[in-house]
Formats: sequence, C-alpha cells, structure tokens
Amino acid sequence: MEFSQLRSQFPALTQSLGDYPLVYLDTAATSQKPQGVIDAMSRYYQADNANVHRAAHQLSARATSQYEAVRDKVKAFINADRREEIIFTHGTTEGINLVALGLASQLKAGDLILLDSAAHHANIVPWQMLAKQTGAEIVPIPLTDEARLDQDAYRQLLARKPSVVALCHVSNVLGTVNPVKEMIAQAKAVGALTLIDGAQAIAHLEVDMQALDCDFYLFSGHKMYGPTGIGILYGRYEALDKLDPLLTGGEMIKQVSFEGTTFNILPNRLEAGTPPIAEVIGLGAAIDFIQSLPREAVRAHEQALLKRLQAKLKQLGGISLYGAHDDNVGAVAFNLSGEHHQDVGILLDQQGIAVRCGHHCAMPLMQTLGLAGCCRASLGVYSTDEDIDRFIQALKSVKELLL
Ligand code: PMP
Repeated sequence: MEFSQLRSQFPALTQSLGDYPLVYLDTAATSQKPQGVIDAMSRYYQADNANVHRAAHQLSARATSQYEAVRDKVKAFINADRREEIIFTHGTTEGINLVALGLASQLKAGDLILLDSAAHHANIVPWQMLAKQTGAEIVPIPLTDEARLDQDAYRQLLARKPSVVALCHVSNVLGTVNPVKEMIAQAKAVGALTLIDGAQAIAHLEVDMQALDCDFYLFSGHKMYGPTGIGILYGRYEALDKLDPLLTGGEMIKQVSFEGTTFNILPNRLEAGTPPIAEVIGLGAAIDFIQSLPREAVRAHEQALLKRLQAKLKQLGGISLYGAHDDNVGAVAFNLSGEHHQDVGILLDQQGIAVRCGHHCAMPLMQTLGLAGCCRASLGVYSTDEDIDRFIQALKSVKELLL
C-alpha cells in the first residue's frame, strides 16, 4: 500500500500557505475529507435532494433509501447487533448529552457517576447537568504519573457500585488508549451502565460493539474523514430504549393529539426533526473510504508515524512531552520549554504547519498536568514522514528564534 498516493484523494492537502506546502497535523480536531465524501454529498444535493421518510415521491424515496442504507453500513462497520441501535446525531457532543440527560429518570440522589480524568469537556459537562438534576455524585478516576487511568483506584471506586462509568477510548490530548474492554467488563460486573467516547478512536482502531460490550459508544463523522454535523450514538437496544428523548417534535412520534403524544420506536424515537441527510450520506462515503484501505497496513503506517514523531521531538531537545507511550494513537502533546503554546502554534503556522494549541477542551486534564495548555500534533492516514520532518524542521527554527 503506497500511502503517499492516498494524499491525492484529499484536495485540501495539495495547497500551499504562502511559500510553504501545508503540513496538516490537526486531524484530531477534524480530519480532511477525501474526494469521494465531497462527491457523495454534492451528488445528493444535485440529484436526490428531498426530505426523508415523508413524501410519496421518488426523490424522497431515493433520499430515504440512501439515508437508511448508511444506518446498515454503520451497523456493520462497528459490528452492532441491530440497525435500531444506530442513532444519527450531530456529533459526539450531542450523543453524550442525549445519553446523560436521557438517564435523568433512572438516576437518583447519591448515585455515583465515574468519569475519566482525561475526558474531553463533552464527556464531563453533560454528566454535571445530570448530577445537578438528580443529585447524583461525580467522581473522576485519577491518573497515574504516566497519565494513564489508575486501574487500582478504578477498582476501589467500583466497590462503591457506580451507576454509570463514562470513559474515553483514546484521549484527544495525549493519544493515550484506555483498556476499555477490561474496564467495561469490570463496570458491568457491578451493574454500572458504560459509555465510551470513541471520537478519537474510530478513525484509528477497530471498534467492535460485540467485543467491547458497552452500553453506549459515540463518535463524530468529521474525525473519520467524513463531514461535520453528523455523529453516531450506538446504544445497546435495551439501554437505548430506556432513554428519555432529548429532543421532541416531528419524526420521533407515533401519535400526537392535544391530549397527549405517544413516541415512535427506535431509532426514530431519538431522531427528532429533519436529520442531516447529506451529512449521513457523506458519512457513508467516509466508511467506504476507510474500508477500502487495508486495516493492518493503516495501523502499522500510523503507528510508525507516531513513533517517528515522538522520537524526533525527543531528539530535538527542550521539548516536554506529555503522556507519550508506545501504544498511543494518533496524537502527541508537547510544549517548547518555557514558551507559551500559542506563540509556538502561531510561529509554526507561519511555516505552513497546522497544529492545535490550547487546553483542547480538557481543562481538568490540564490542571492535573499543571499546564495552562499545550500544543498537539495529530495524524491521519494521509500523514507522511515528510510531514513530520517538515514539522520538526519548523519547530527547530521556532526554538532557535525563541530560546
Ligand atoms: N470527545 C473527544 C475525545 C473529542 O476529541 C471530541 C472532539 N474534539 C469530542 C468529544 C467532541 O466531538 P464533537 O465536537 O464532534 O461533538
């Protein structure tokens, strides 16, 4: 497999910024999109644009069959049991809100919710809203000195029989991978509901609902070479069926009168209003793109790139790396010693290098690490050795300028 040829499928990657070719190392924020995804969405708008599930006409029938075919594609992609377990959302954030707020009638004061200390705010704030509504208590699972979730502390917390355990699969800041399969099994053994934020895992790891056996798994299309505005909430049927709907209105009802309303069955019950149809079709094309690639070779390519990135940053000197391990996925978090992350990011941008700088929507993790923020370089399937070498060269010149 020649990965450098893959790049030509991504039109945005062929541009230069001033005199510098674009080096896109911000895939964890959002991935670039292959031509196949862009084409699938414009084809829909050009030929098939209509609302789904509603009209008797042929355009609506075509839109509906394309939209529902993606549900089957996602089901197969993550090896879910039933198509009704796949809910289209606008992204991971909406999906976690849907679950957390949908659990309000199942939790009571004093119930325990265990959270990942390295979580993205999307997997913290909705739980705080739920805790406020119900009187449930939130306890973060602490990190070890290596910035991994502390498994001994986790086992001790499980002895308190939590109602919910919500983890991330891969940290969006550090790229660390949680042993989610084992942690889910341990949580289930004490009767907890389990939710996994897979936003940073879905493009890089094989994600199999039968193997993981969690209750809920979330991801966003835009981080897996698909469009923004579309995400997936997977829920085990019985767990999903018990959630109160977050949004109500059209599509999610069976019968409405001014005396009262009965709700539709899954999946429609949790998909109120006109859905993001073009985005769903784009997501289907993104899955086709991922499945057209040899999985093992992609994994080996991305791991080799990450190792190169970590090693070259270490060699450069004057760099602090955070939670950098061999088994990380997709991202490296770093600072240039003594320099503000934002300054480093701006100076890199002047040489065509796109990295992300800031708190990465993980303020509690930043507090644990004692940081105001950091830079993050992240990789996609289209990343190359040359990207990494250009980045390191640019960082070297930033270092010479600042230090
Ligand atoms: N969780 C993680 C781990 C993420 O990386 C992100 C996106 N940065 C989110 C949740 C939120 O995803 P979205 O903005 O697509 O809803």
